Formats: sequence, C-alpha cells, structure tokens
Amino acid sequence: MERRAFLNGTAQASLAIAAPRLIGAGRDEPKPKTLVGIQIAGHSLLDEGVDRCLDLVQSTARANALLLYSHSHYAAHGRPPSVYADHGVPLKDERKRTITRLWVRHHDERFRGTSLRFPLPAADEEYGDRDLFAELAPVCRARGLQLYARILEPGTGELRGRVAHVERAMSVGLDGQLSAQPCRNNPEWQGFWDALVGDTIRTYPLDGYQWGAERVGPLSELLWRGTMPFCFCPHCAARAQREGINVARARQGFTELHALITGLRAGGARPPDGVFTHVLRLLMKFPEVLAWDYQWRLALEEQGRRTHALVKAARPTALVGRHFDHQNTSWDALFLAQLSYADVAPYTDFIKPILYHDILGPRLRWWHLERLKQGPLAELSLAQSLDLFYALRGYDPKAEPALEDLDRRGLSADYVAKETRRIVDVVQGKCAVVPGIGVDVPDNIARPPGVPASTVRSSSAGLRAAVTQAFVAGAAGIVISREYDEMRIENLRAIGDTLRELGRV
Ligand SMILES: [Zn+2]
Repeated sequence: MERRAFLNGTAQASLAIAAPRLIGAGRDEPKPKTLVGIQIAGHSLLDEGVDRCLDLVQSTARANALLLYSHSHYAAHGRPPSVYADHGVPLKDERKRTITRLWVRHHDERFRGTSLRFPLPAADEEYGDRDLFAELAPVCRARGLQLYARILEPGTGELRGRVAHVERAMSVGLDGQLSAQPCRNNPEWQGFWDALVGDTIRTYPLDGYQWGAERVGPLSELLWRGTMPFCFCPHCAARAQREGINVARARQGFTELHALITGLRAGGARPPDGVFTHVLRLLMKFPEVLAWDYQWRLALEEQGRRTHALVKAARPTALVGRHFDHQNTSWDALFLAQLSYADVAPYTDFIKPILYHDILGPRLRWWHLERLKQGPLAELSLAQSLDLFYALRGYDPKAEPALEDLDRRGLSADYVAKETRRIVDVVQGKCAVVPGIGVDVPDNIARPPGVPASTVRSSSAGLRAAVTQAFVAGAAGIVISREYDEMRIENLRAIGDTLRELGRV
C-alpha cells in the first residue's frame, strides 16, 4: 500500500500523514502521528527566546512541526502591535524595526542559472547575523519537532531594491510597464526560483518545504481588481505561439476587457446590453484571453513540478507541501476552475488549503462581493451575489452569515469541513490534505472612509469546531495559521486540547 511518511532523520521518525488511505496497514508499523504544523516567523522565535517559544508551542497547541519562513520578502510585515498576541514577553512594534527577510545562507555557485542574487543582510538588519535553520535543526530534533521551511513566492515588486537584477524577471503589462508578479516563463526567474529552493533544501536538514504563490492569473486580476493585464514579455509570447495562441488577438481581447472593467470601476456607464453579457461576449469573441490565463496557471504548476523534483533530488525523505491561499481556495472561481487539486497531487505530498473560517466573513464582503459588484456581476446586489456564492460552494445560507453580518461573524466550521472534504474526495489519496486553520488572523482590509473595521474574532469554541470538522472530513493534519505571533494562548490551548481529545497527538 502506498505510504507517505514524515521523516525527521532519526530512527523512530516515521510520522506518517494520517490520511486513512495513505497509512500502511502493516501491523508492525509504528503508530502514525498526525501532522500538527504551526506557521512561525524567525523573529518571533528570537524575540521570545527559542526554548521559551518552543515550550509554549508544544505545551499549548501540541504542535509537532514548525513551518518557518526561509525568506520573508512576501509575508506579513509592518503590522501594528494591536494584532500581536500577548505571549508574556514585551511586544516590539515591527513597523519601527528592520527585521531581516533572508533566514538562510545561500551558496552563490548554485545560482549560476540566473543573474538574480539575494544580497547578505545589511549590518542594520535585525537578526541578519543569525543562521536560524542551522541553529534550530538540532534543537527541533532533540524536541521531536519536525522542521519545515516555508516560503511564499516573493513578489518581484517586493524584491525590487532588495534583489539584484530582479527587473529582468518581472512580468510585463499590456501597457509595456513592469508588473508585480514574476514571469514564470522567464529563464531568469526559473533559474532564481530553482536555485532558491534547491539550495535551501540542500543546505539544511529539513523535513520538508511548504511553498505557495499568493496570486491569481491576469484575467482574475483584471476582473476582480482592474489590474493591467500581464504578462506580455517575449518569453510569454513565444510560449503562446508554441501553444497556437494568437498573441495579437489576446492583446486585443485584454485591451477591450480592460477598458470595460476600468471604466466601470471609475463609475462609467454600463453597456446597454448588460455588464455580464458584455464580459461573456468579449470572452467568446477573444477566446485567446482564456487561453492566456490558462497558460499563466500552467506555468505556475510547472514551477510546482520543478520544486517537487528539486526537493526530492536533494533530500528524498523531505516532503513538499503546497500552500493555496484564501482567494485560491475559497472565492476565485477562475483559479478554482483552471485545474483540479487532483492535477496538483502527483507533485505534492500534502496540500495545505487556507480555510480561515473567521476572517472569511469580512474577506468575502470586501475582497469578493464588492469587487464582483464593480466588475462582472454589477447587475447583482451584494446579497444576491452572496446567495450565489453560498449556493455554488454548497454552504447552508441559514447557517452562514447574512450580508450585513459578514463584518460581525465569520463562517461556521462547516466551511472547513466542506472544503476539506472536497479536496480529499478530489485527490483520492494521491496526496494528503492538511488544512490551514486560521487563528486570530487580523483584519487588514482597507474599507471605505467611515466604515468600521470588523468585530470578527477567533474563539476557542470556534477553533475547536474547525479542528474537529477538519478531521471528520478526512484531513491528515492541520497547519495552525497564519502567524504564531498573532495567536492568543487560550486559542492555541483550545487547539491542543481538541487534538488530544481526538486522539491525534
Ligand atoms: Zn512573461
């Protein structure tokens, strides 16, 4: 029977992912342990003191794996102290700090395939002198903790001014200007990403690497946010030509769609025959737009295949986790339609879908419904759009918040259950599903002037329900998310207690 194991490099290291379909049935095999990961940033560990912090993580949440940023160029930064939890140590305002974003030491010779380079941390970067993964590996091993690197694909916008020559790897917009996403068809980016992953996993004795790209494709960016379409660099044009896609037609279609959406967002008149109809008409007239968007996703997944191959080549026992962010898992219909999780499973050991049920309420209101209203679903009221969303995702509208409650109440644990079950059913045991459970995720949504921030907060009871429902739905573990320094102790304890009661730890 197929079996995937979490290995920590020691003899008794077989922490098998507890997906029933993946566990070996042999009687003599060690009892599998559930993956209980916790996402943490390097500065949290060092601010609190490594041993003190790990004692807290292990004694409250009963986590058995740390997921630590290897690079935090694209991550939670500049948050006000009001969102940090009280862990019994003095809070330091990170807006007034210059914390390093590079937590590994790279080897220049492994970056031969690209001109992009991470410079060593500057002298004034806090913790820039620490080789944290090297320090932590023996500490974690002694504590029976697995150590994973985690990374969110750095946005080339964030890397500007930090990484030499990054402009060479950036996407190019329809207007010829550089745009914030990397171009994954660009050999400079491919070489940089591959070196980054390969060097990190070869340098440190890691149990795995969790990666994700918190992005959506050019069509989603345009329809939901009015973003200038991308990428129209020579590498993407060459790819399109190989795929039989007419580049000029794609440009024309995106140009017309961009004019429509940006006009609507600026308060312009709606087309006489309707916005929704007009959007569909443009997609039919210019199917090259859909084809362009699909190639964006395929290029992202090619990066995923290479990541998997690099990790396995360097460290065969290390696991590859794939992080899918909230928009990817929960509301971007185009991203969800582009590929199935089953397509991703062959080059992924575990999928970590972000299923933050609390903060989903406000995010749905401001990052989904309001954007649809300004774009393709302009004809629907926000309430109608919410009804449509609940119906399409299979949620019970009577159990979930009404429109006016989305800033006061998150979604129920049933959301965690339904989305976990959906992925478990789709991947058919080809990889494990390890949902990201959101604990005290702050509300950083920009609202119109005069609109108060949400009052949604995580509760111990809500987290108990979410964790329980994740396992009922077939989860092989959980990743306690999104940042350790935001998580209140009472909530960490509620998760740990629930795991113990479920017999998972
Ligand atoms: Zn490109």
